[in-house]
Amino acid sequence: MSKKLDLTGKKFGKLTVIRELPERKKGRIMWRCKCDCGNENIDVVGIYLTTGQTQSCGCMKKELEIKNLREEYENKRVDGVVKPLFKDKEPRKDSSTGFRGVSKYRTRKSKELRYRAWITVKGKQYYKSGFKTAEEAYYNGRLKLEELHLPKKEDHTDE
Ligand SMILES: [Zn+2]
Repeated sequence: MSKKLDLTGKKFGKLTVIRELPERKKGRIMWRCKCDCGNENIDVVGIYLTTGQTQSCGCMKKELEIKNLREEYENKRVDGVVKPLFKDKEPRKDSSTGFRGVSKYRTRKSKELRYRAWITVKGKQYYKSGFKTAEEAYYNGRLKLEELHLPKKEDHTDE
């Protein structure tokens, strides 16, 4: 005969054990718990508590799912560059020049307006300067930089 564990008052994850229940589940002791989130009357088999299988009323699972979703989204980024950039080569109208990765500058001597394409890959910045229009800087600069410096796609189904 193994010694009966008294889990009353013990905490497992977010669950606090309130009391032992009179009923058994397949001969196992059930415990009435309450969850940190406010849910009460959660009945858990003792072994699930002590082994850490059940650590909340289910709300923690939801939190985990949200966390996983976020990680999945993060994994879709390659070195800080969102992957859809690989697919559609449409300029993004979300920067000051109207093109993603294109910025304005003025030449040192003549103060002429020029455009510079840039990209950050693995914390390193790459530039291509001297474009007269933002569009040119995007198509001949930014896209070239993407080709050169972004990790290559595995599949080339679109080619
Ligand atoms: Zn909960």
